[in-house]
Amino acid sequence: MKNIDNYDFRNKKVIVRVDFNVPLDAQFNVTDDTRIKATIPTIKKILQGGGSVILMSHLGRPKGGPEDKFSLRHVLGDLSKKLGMDVQFADDCIGESAHRMSAALQPGQVLLLENLRFYKEEEAGDVGFAKKLADLADVYMNDAFGTAHRAHASTAVIARFFPENKLFGYVMGGEVSSINKVLKEGHKPVTAILGGAKVSGKIEIINNLLDKVDNLVIGGGMMFTFIKAMGGKTGNSLVEDDLIETAKSAMGKAKKLGVHFYIPTDAVIADQFDNEANFKTCEAGVIPDGWMGLDIGPKSVAAIKEIILSSSTLLWNGPMGVFEMDHFAEGTIAIAKAIAEATQKGAFSLVGGGDSVAAVNKYHLSDQISHVSTGGGAMLEFIEGKELPGVAAIEA
Ligand code: AMP
Repeated sequence: MKNIDNYDFRNKKVIVRVDFNVPLDAQFNVTDDTRIKATIPTIKKILQGGGSVILMSHLGRPKGGPEDKFSLRHVLGDLSKKLGMDVQFADDCIGESAHRMSAALQPGQVLLLENLRFYKEEEAGDVGFAKKLADLADVYMNDAFGTAHRAHASTAVIARFFPENKLFGYVMGGEVSSINKVLKEGHKPVTAILGGAKVSGKIEIINNLLDKVDNLVIGGGMMFTFIKAMGGKTGNSLVEDDLIETAKSAMGKAKKLGVHFYIPTDAVIADQFDNEANFKTCEAGVIPDGWMGLDIGPKSVAAIKEIILSSSTLLWNGPMGVFEMDHFAEGTIAIAKAIAEATQKGAFSLVGGGDSVAAVNKYHLSDQISHVSTGGGAMLEFIEGKELPGVAAIEA
C-alpha cells in the first residue's frame, strides 16, 4: 500500500488539501497557527523526497466569490516562516495563474493557491471544478482531517482523478490510525468516556461505541438524563425528557452486550448556573429542586479513575462538568489527569471532539495523551461509525 513514507516523490507535483482555516485578527495576523504547524512535516517530507507542493485550502465562509478578508494570502507569511523558505502564491485556485505557476513549479518549491471556497463549486463537490484542480498536479494528498466528513471537490471528488496516486498526509494518517487503534484494533479493556452537555448530540456515538467497548462512562450534563431514566431526582439539572426512553434502551443494550455502563453516583450541585453560585456535593439521584448538577462528585471521580487506570485503550469526548467555571472543573481536570497517567503506564489514549480537546490544552496535558484529535466534527462522525468521504476517497 502506497503511503507518504514509501512513495517516490521525485519530480512529482503533489497537490495537498490542507486545513489552513485559521483565525485571523483585524490586521489579518494569524492568531492560532496550530493547523499550519501541523502540516509542516507533510510538506517537508514531499520536498525532501524531491517533489514540489501545491497547497489548497479554504478559509472562513466566503459567500461564493473573492473577498479580501478570506484571502489565503494572509497566511503566506506565517507559512513561509515555518517552512524557512519562500512560498509562491496564485491569486486564483484554478484558471490561468494557477496553471502557469504550477506548470513552472520546480522540485523543492511550494505554491499556495487562493481560497477554494471563492468558488461555490468547491462545497457542491463539482466534478468539473475538481478536475481543474487535479490538472495542476501528478499526485493528490489529503491532509485536512477537519473537512474529511465533507464530500467537497478538494476533499473527496478530486481523488477519482488520481486512482493510483492518492495518499494521506501525516495529519490525516495520524487521525485515521488513532481512531482505528481504538475502534478496530483496541487492546482490551477498551473504555470510552463521554461527557458534554446533551445526550441528543451523542446518542449515535453511544450506540456505535456500545458494540466496541468494555466500559462506557457517562459524565457531563448528559448524565442527568440517564439518572432520571433510572428513577433518580435531578432537580434543575439539564435533562432531556424526550430522550429518557433512548437512555433506557442504551442502558438495556449495554446490559445485553455485557458492557459496563458507568453513571456517576454523586455530583457537585449549585443553586445557579454561575461560578459564584452556592455549591455542594450530593448523591446523584437525590438532587433537591432549585439545585442543578454541574460536575461529577469525588466518589464518581475515584470510581472513573479506577476504570481508566485499569484500561488499555481510552477514548474521551466531552467534559465531565461545566469546566469553563473553576468551581465545576475538578471532575474534568481529574479525568484528564487520570487519562494522562494511564497513558504513561502504557495505555493508548485518544481525546477528540471539541471541548475535551480544549480541556486537555487548558490543563497542559496534550503532550501526555497518545493522540489529541484536530478535527471536531470529523472526529465525532468517525466515532459515530460513519464513513468519512475524505477518508473513503483515499482508501477506495
Ligand atoms: P458538548 O459540546 O456537547 O461536548 O458540550 C460541552 C459543554 O457541556 C461545555 O460547554 C460544558 O460546560 C457543558 N456541560 C458539561 N457538564 C454540564 C452540566 N452538568 N450541565 C450543563 N452543561 C454542562
